[in-house]
Amino acid sequence: MAGAFTDQNKSFYTSLKLQDPSIYEAIVKEHKREEEGLELIASENYVSQAVLDAQGSILTNKYAEGYPKKRYYGGCEFVDEAESLAIERVCKLFQVEAANVQPHSGSQANMAAFLALMKPGETLCGMSLAHGGHLTHGSPANFSGKLFKVLSYGVHPETHRLDYDLVRALAIKEKPKVIVAGASAYPRIIDFESLGQIAKETGAHFVVDIAHIAGLVATGLHPSPISHATYTTSTTHKTLRGPRGGIVLGKPEYIKQLNSWIFPGIQGGPLMHVIAAKAVAFGEALKPEFKQYQNQILKNSKTLAEILISHGVCLVTGGTDNHLMLVDLTQTGDGEITGKDAENWLDQAGITVNKNTVPNEKRSPFIASGIRIGVPAITTRGMKENEMKFIGQWISEILHNKGKTEIITKIRNQVIELCKNFPIYGLKT
Ligand SMILES: *Cc1c(COP(=O)(O)O)cnc(C)c1O
Repeated sequence: MAGAFTDQNKSFYTSLKLQDPSIYEAIVKEHKREEEGLELIASENYVSQAVLDAQGSILTNKYAEGYPKKRYYGGCEFVDEAESLAIERVCKLFQVEAANVQPHSGSQANMAAFLALMKPGETLCGMSLAHGGHLTHGSPANFSGKLFKVLSYGVHPETHRLDYDLVRALAIKEKPKVIVAGASAYPRIIDFESLGQIAKETGAHFVVDIAHIAGLVATGLHPSPISHATYTTSTTHKTLRGPRGGIVLGKPEYIKQLNSWIFPGIQGGPLMHVIAAKAVAFGEALKPEFKQYQNQILKNSKTLAEILISHGVCLVTGGTDNHLMLVDLTQTGDGEITGKDAENWLDQAGITVNKNTVPNEKRSPFIASGIRIGVPAITTRGMKENEMKFIGQWISEILHNKGKTEIITKIRNQVIELCKNFPIYGLKT
């Protein structure tokens, strides 16, 4: 990953600097922030220079409403090549027959998948946001909660693991049209086979959203939902390490109706520069190095979890099977630390996490009693088990000292020193 900007980006930055110093400065400052801080937000990652090059390319100029070889505009022969390659590669990566690579985001992938399977007013059964699900799985604030009748399931009150019996009981009683699985803050393996079986038994369609774990699924390190689900949706920018965007995977007969829900249903022209960057990222994910990367994510995650636990930091479910963990602050130290305070203290030390609700949350989601920690980004920059030991110690020191200024200042300097040894793009602006 280390290295200078390519010539293309150098000239991009040069013209930007001359023409628009304000935006140039904002980008330079963000670049410095990324290089000098530990990014532990579980949904973030650093794309390769090749992905940046494709996304920053002149393909942004092209209108290509429609799909390869079936467009509403002329001049699409070259963007067709890019989109066809993206589809071919993502199908190979997930061992699926058909795909739509046009969703502008994970949310739009989900919106199209739901609308392709049910009408407004019908019933969606999804994991509640408070238990680790996503906004688009039925939150009242989201289109999914406004358009559909929602049944929420969550984790078991004691084990804090997904409650499959609850899903079964809900599905038998209420006969939802769609059951959606997938999470943004769940540290354990999800049993897609069992959930798919429940959907089958109760006549529901099964949609699986692998936004967070796509990289692990692609490399066989988390069970794949493909054979159980009508649609598998994902983002491309989390563990999959591509540009920001979404995808939908499935059988050809289902992808046909999905396609018309993406365009003209909910989107206009596709972002061809992003689709080209997705193709580049899928190409990277097909290489053996990508599996090594995902393996290292799991090793780092386990190591960090063990270090935190050994320092008296409590984790929801007592550990992790994937790229993330949830700290339960009600069971850490005196139990009085809020997620908001913890996020803020760690941020001052250059360690970026997000506050998160924990199971049986008593505080508002704006304060929360937990933090979510993920290792995909720091693993991309080359950090391994040894670095996890330092990071785990620093996090626990800050928490146990309740953000004492001298401790934060000391650790801030140690974070900068560590980051210097793991450049992301290099500071060549
Ligand atoms: C991140 C995420 C999404 C949405 O992705 P956006 O690109 O931010 O819209 C959807 N589902 C899950 C489970 C996610 O974690």
